[in-house]
Amino acid sequence: MQLTDNHNRPINYLRISVTDRCNLRCTYCMPEQGLQFEHKQNLLTFPEMSQLIRIFSEMGVDKVRFTGGEPFVRDGLMELIQEVSGLNGLDEISITTNGTVLNEEQLQTLKASKVRTINLSLDSLDRDTFQEITRRDNFSTVMKNLDLIMKFGFDIKVNCVVMPDKNIQEIQSFVEFTKDKPVTVRFLEEMPFNGASRDFTGIKWNHVKILDHITNLFPNSEQLPVPESSTSSLYQARGHKGKFGIIPSFSRTFCGTCNRVRVSHHGMMRTCLYGENVLDLKELIRSDTSEDEIKEQIVNVIQKRAKDGFEAQANRSIKESMTKIGG
Ligand code: SAM
Ligand code: SF4
Repeated sequence: MQLTDNHNRPINYLRISVTDRCNLRCTYCMPEQGLQFEHKQNLLTFPEMSQLIRIFSEMGVDKVRFTGGEPFVRDGLMELIQEVSGLNGLDEISITTNGTVLNEEQLQTLKASKVRTINLSLDSLDRDTFQEITRRDNFSTVMKNLDLIMKFGFDIKVNCVVMPDKNIQEIQSFVEFTKDKPVTVRFLEEMPFNGASRDFTGIKWNHVKILDHITNLFPNSEQLPVPESSTSSLYQARGHKGKFGIIPSFSRTFCGTCNRVRVSHHGMMRTCLYGENVLDLKELIRSDTSEDEIKEQIVNVIQKRAKDGFEAQANRSIKESMTKIGG
């Protein structure tokens, strides 16, 4: 089976949020005091997540990303990943993490699973700036864990949110970082999903400006091909082991080939990051609804997908945090 939306886009990628909790308080994501976190009984259990992932895989989803909140703060994640790694339909499993709480044993488990790529969020290569952005002093742990992840041979994508008042000066350092490290640094435009922790009136540095800035600094950068559904461009500065890319997450130039859907920690399905929740999957799997009926309802909401993030956002004022949607 191949899921296709009402704009003829194949849907084969599920992003599932393991938890809304997190040990960091990144300024672009959460208020300092945190959020009203979901009660345990409202979270999808791991068997429920596993069931949903199986259902999606039977519908043609072959790629799953675990995100959050911080996925590694929820106990049992390794068992869940081991279990869904056994699904025949799944080719690719990945994780997005802040890299603060993972350990060698977990990486060993992941290495034996279908996880090949780990996305590590890191917005600064400077300890003080890291602390200013995340409101926590975890920089050295993250750098140590970055090396550990590399040692285990995972593909590493470093996600760096570009914020003019905080880390513009580090764009150069991040590209230089790719000289000896075989990682791909992706610069993300900031989005409004900060849990109403600060005003968001748009961005001053969009993907074009970021790229101009980098190509001025590294004129010998070469553009590399990417899969059609990729949200990121890809470049390599001459002689560098690693690569860099830019994700127009606010400009949303990639919506035309968007292949993804999201399920939150509390089982809400979204067909666009900028849109509303469209289906309560927790309620469905906790009721006596058959799996065939659940699949039918999934198909129905996929048939009503907004054509892009601007259409999905129309008439909405975004106050949510990424942790409530699954980043
Ligand atoms: N805690 C994990 C982490 O930080 O990698 C996973 C969840 S986090 C919500 C997923 C990604 O969303 C991170 O790369 C983070 O930088 C990004 N993110 C969160 N809020 C954002 C925002 N307002 N604008 C752009 N990216 C954001
Ligand atoms: Fe936590 Fe990730 Fe949000 Fe930072 S971006 S507060 S690490 S969930």
